[in-house]
Amino acid sequence: MYYNTNMQWQESTNGFVLRLERGEEVLTSLENFCKEQSVMSAFVCGIGALENVEICAYDIKKKTYICRKFAESQELLSLLGNVTQSEGKPFCHIHVVLGNEEYHVNGGHLQSGRVSVTCEIEVRTSSRPIERIADEETGLHLWKLKNHRSS
Ligand code: ZN
Repeated sequence: MYYNTNMQWQESTNGFVLRLERGEEVLTSLENFCKEQSVMSAFVCGIGALENVEICAYDIKKKTYICRKFAESQELLSLLGNVTQSEGKPFCHIHVVLGNEEYHVNGGHLQSGRVSVTCEIEVRTSSRPIERIADEETGLHLWKLKNHRSS
């Protein structure tokens, strides 16, 4: 297994566009990029192809993720998510829909995945941080919002 961090990127009107290279792990590369560029919060969307993907579904009763791995390369039909601040660091929450050669789709909460062909991502940034806070009821770190306009 090789690891590549040589993504290409440029600024766009509302943030950045990224071209992840073959072998890059999506969450690692995205979080590192956000750290380097001091992205406080962002909304992310993308397409491409991934392999060695682990996706999960949340079991609310057990308060744990049930995960499944897919080794083969699949089309990344849709990547959607956000970047927020968790304990002072960028935290990426990403969901994906993948399509295989049979045109069947699998989707879930992205745990990890490597770029098998390319991955084209838009990172729409906001200068105002969104924080996360532990939520007892769900067992997850949920958005902590202010309920008032910033001055
Ligand atoms: Zn999720």
